[in-house]
Amino acid sequence: MKQILCNLGVEISQLELPNQHREDSRVWRQSTDGLFTVGSAYEVIRERANALPWTKFLWTAEVLPRTLGTGWKVLHGAMHTNEKLRGKNFKMVSRCCICTVAEETQDHILFECSFAQRCWELIAHNMQHHTRIANREEMFIKCRNESPLLQDLWKAASISCLVAVIYGNKKSSISSVMSQVRRAVNRANDRSKKHMHNTTRDLEVLKAWKLPPKLRKAPCTLECYWVAPPSNMIKVNADGCSRGNPKNSGWGTLLRDSNGNVIGAYIGGLGIATNFIAESFAIVEGISKAAELGWKLILVEFDSTAAVKSFQNDQVHWQIRAALDKVKELADWIIVTNRIEGG
Ligand SMILES: [Zn+2]
Repeated sequence: MKQILCNLGVEISQLELPNQHREDSRVWRQSTDGLFTVGSAYEVIRERANALPWTKFLWTAEVLPRTLGTGWKVLHGAMHTNEKLRGKNFKMVSRCCICTVAEETQDHILFECSFAQRCWELIAHNMQHHTRIANREEMFIKCRNESPLLQDLWKAASISCLVAVIYGNKKSSISSVMSQVRRAVNRANDRSKKHMHNTTRDLEVLKAWKLPPKLRKAPCTLECYWVAPPSNMIKVNADGCSRGNPKNSGWGTLLRDSNGNVIGAYIGGLGIATNFIAESFAIVEGISKAAELGWKLILVEFDSTAAVKSFQNDQVHWQIRAALDKVKELADWIIVTNRIEGG
């Protein structure tokens, strides 16, 4: 075993011993406090389906819930077209009921039929898009590089168009579909709290839909300040972050005394961890560095409410429990608070 560890670059004599004053205890790794819950066990054993790429496109749209529900079915391919019936071994001749020149499939009705193409052309003209919408993927791609407001308008227009076209019949006209789309766009504009970019193109799109401009609010300056701790106390400002949840993560901490002098600045990596673990490690490492430098009164200021509450209620993550117990023995007084000042 020693040889294997040596080959991996681990010196066994340098490894830190666990806290021998604390009794061993069982830990349920799937929960933050190490205690077993039925909910966390279910999360471990349940089968997860792959996330659909278009859910954010659909559920962030400022559209009527009824339209969104139908849009969900349309994007899932759950509409009763002849294509579906043939899949269930119905022997039948299939022909599009609108143009009567091609087989009735969902893609044909939504994008390839001459009726649908004319609707998409009118919408694309209003949105200043100069390429044809030939399938669902192109519909999603059009959202990219748009201002937040125009993204909402495009989502509302495209989803309401899908729903209006799939429920169309011989009596449907392009003007009736476009009036439904226009209503959806007006509603999205009323409900959206997002703003346009200050460009000619955005103004032209809003003008085409006969909507007023929605400018970004002017930025306001926030005052930032830092309050020094009382004498013989050290203030620890710390933060932890994960680039994903979980993904590569790290922590950083800054120690300053009552005169504002920087006593130490430390950073460290944690490998793959969640945001909560990274935040909790940042607090413990900050306290640990201050205690190692001989400080007995330690004030920690932190911005994560969840991490601060877990320390205040003594319900820290099981991975840092041992490290916290160790630093508690070194310091006389530790307090962890939310950062109430700016900066
Ligand atoms: Zn057709």
